[in-house]
Amino acid sequence: MCRHLAYLGPPAPVGDLLTRGPHSLRTQSWAPRDMRGGGTINADGFGVAWWSLSSESPVLSRYRNAAPVWTDPAVEEVLPQLHSSAVLAAVRSATVGMPVEREACAPFVHGRWAFSHNGSIPRWRRTLTAVASRFGSPPLLDAEALTDSAVLWVIARELLDAGESPENVLRQLVRAVIELSPNSRLNLLLGDGESVWATTWHHSLSVLVTDTFAVVASEPYDDDSRWRAIEDRRLVSVRPGHLTVLDLDAVIEEGKAFS
Ligand code: GLN
Repeated sequence: MCRHLAYLGPPAPVGDLLTRGPHSLRTQSWAPRDMRGGGTINADGFGVAWWSLSSESPVLSRYRNAAPVWTDPAVEEVLPQLHSSAVLAAVRSATVGMPVEREACAPFVHGRWAFSHNGSIPRWRRTLTAVASRFGSPPLLDAEALTDSAVLWVIARELLDAGESPENVLRQLVRAVIELSPNSRLNLLLGDGESVWATTWHHSLSVLVTDTFAVVASEPYDDDSRWRAIEDRRLVSVRPGHLTVLDLDAVIEEGKAFS
């Protein structure tokens, strides 16, 4: 299944976040270490979104390609020229039956939000139609691609637009999807340029948080001893100097609302 990564910190070359470290996201696309039975390689495209925070309201830009990340010269020749203090990227392994096309590659973006889903939702059409009906029937036909992740994003972004906190959105989505399709894998990654939120549900995730920068990644890109592996079924909230890890089962059980 896919591998994803988010970075917050001092401005860094956008391309660098794809190639940084001996086990970079690009390396993870052809030699991932911790796929937990969910696929072998991540060669069905990639994408990267970055925020420009210099203007009054942040501008979110994106580059995607349905080809394997290691074949795209833009990674070496273009993306390193762009700098950002907030980046969210993903390499994709298409779930069986789903299209391989640019529009299916994360990150999915909306306003100031960028989103990635590492995982799969068995019987996703039926499941997500039912999930959507619980949340005011958002326009699923607006999905960029006919994939579980793109449709899940339509539901998520409607909730964000309605003013729900990112923690609430992720918690509610995981709960609703798992209820209807219990074997789903739901490692979700959401960013707004200032913070990152993520869930672990049957896939790997690690975080590296210091006072100056924060990284959330499916797999650590280097052997820095400060990487922390996140247990399964967690809800993580991260920014430089700040890490919160909540037990997602408990949070779902409590129906806890976040302000
Ligand atoms: N199911 C999603 C897709 O096909 C995500 C795939 C993944 O995590 N490998 O795009």
